[in-house]
Amino acid sequence: MTLPPDDWRLFKQENYLLGKTLYFKKYSDRQLTANRDHDHCSFCTEKFSDVIPNALTQGYTTEDGYHWICEKCFADFKDKFKWTVNPAL
Ligand SMILES: [Zn+2]
Repeated sequence: MTLPPDDWRLFKQENYLLGKTLYFKKYSDRQLTANRDHDHCSFCTEKFSDVIPNALTQGYTTEDGYHWICEKCFADFKDKFKWTVNPAL
C-alpha cells in the first residue's frame, strides 16, 4: 500500500524527523525539561498523556523526547522517513 503524496498528516515533518532514530517508550517514562502533561502525535495530533483519559500512553519518540509519533503513524510513515528504532531502550 502506498500513501497518497498529499496525506493530510504531512506538513514538512521531514525537516526535523527525516532519518531519525526513534525510541519506543511509555509516555510516563519521558524525560522533558518542560513540565508538560501531554504531547501530540507529530502527524495526526493524537494526544499522548498519562493523566488525560483515553490518551495514548506509549509510542515512538525522538531521543530528546520532544517529538512523539503514534504507532499507526509510525507504521504508515516509517519507510518514507527512514526511521531507525533503537531497541536498547
Ligand atoms: Zn499519529
